[in-house]
Amino acid sequence: MKPTPKNGVLDIEIYVPGKSRAPEGIKLHKLSSNETPLGPPPAAIEAARRAMADLASYPDGQASELKAAIAEVHGLNTANILCGNGSDELLGLLCQCYLAPGDEAIHTEHGFLVYEIQIKAAGATPVVAPEKDRTADVDAILERVTNKTKLVFLANPNNPTGTYLPFDEVRRLQAGLPGHVILVLDAAYAEYVRRNDYGAGIELVSACENVVMTRTFSKIYGLAGLRIGWLYGPEAIVSTLDRVRGPFNLNAAAIAAGAAAIRDRAFIEAAASFNAEWLDWTTRAIEALGLQVTPSVGNFVLVHFPDETGKGAAEADAFLTARGFILRRVAGYGFPNALRMSIGSEEANRGVVAALAEFLKSPS
Ligand code: PMP
Repeated sequence: MKPTPKNGVLDIEIYVPGKSRAPEGIKLHKLSSNETPLGPPPAAIEAARRAMADLASYPDGQASELKAAIAEVHGLNTANILCGNGSDELLGLLCQCYLAPGDEAIHTEHGFLVYEIQIKAAGATPVVAPEKDRTADVDAILERVTNKTKLVFLANPNNPTGTYLPFDEVRRLQAGLPGHVILVLDAAYAEYVRRNDYGAGIELVSACENVVMTRTFSKIYGLAGLRIGWLYGPEAIVSTLDRVRGPFNLNAAAIAAGAAAIRDRAFIEAAASFNAEWLDWTTRAIEALGLQVTPSVGNFVLVHFPDETGKGAAEADAFLTARGFILRRVAGYGFPNALRMSIGSEEANRGVVAALAEFLKSPS
């Protein structure tokens, strides 16, 4: 139901972003929002600076320079691309345009929290599909499709689990959906994935009328602060969202920095290699402490604390925060006894592992 001033506020849990405060005097390692420790390519910073020279003018409402750069790098047509104020905005626009009260939209059990918020904000009903081994389960999703279903959200890799659904399975999901249901492939962590089937996602969008992919500059491109996302999809969907978005939804610095960042392929490749190396190291080092880590293909890991020891995620979080390591509590995602950790700098990764070892040895 849509709210009125009389019946109170929307019945939606407020999205609480990862915290970013360390105790005074202690060096902060913010590992709570899956940001990159490497920052953006230097050319992106320079481009943003140049764009800031003219703050009195509105930015280009079409974000043409950014769309052209994305199209060039990915071999796409600009008519199939829409840029957004972060991919969050694009997820919201999809709900605003394609959902109405009475409709349903499906997301997976441990899916990104913004889906549920935006589905509810559109007055529609979120439907949760259980996962198998903390990974999306295509059969469970398909079983929940009704004639009210309008959207299916699939983050691949998923946040906060970092798990990955092979593209044969994504294809099977698309093939099983009625044509009126839009499949939203949320590929926020795409650039980190080292699987040779990953490019198939873009091919699937190209081949279908009911599949879109959302991407972001907030992760490997290091531009979370500028809020840049993009969507690749069929012209009819892109054009629909384009009509509804704010006229100047990307600022001038974002447009310029995004275009410069996406062209620096050497920087991005180096950032992906850095992540792969430290993802592997961090996973193995935390497992060696006796904690379970969900196998991740993103730039973060989900660390599980066994209930029996009495040393749970809340205590570990307090212990790590006191030492400057800010991880993410994920109770809201259905993991009350786990913490999500972004892969950080070498110093941060080694520091968390050492602090966790100390935590596990300390008396409970
Ligand atoms: N999708 C997923 C799965 C995410 O984890 C995030 C960021 N936390 C987003 C979308 C949104 O990213 P942004 O709005 O910064 O582009």
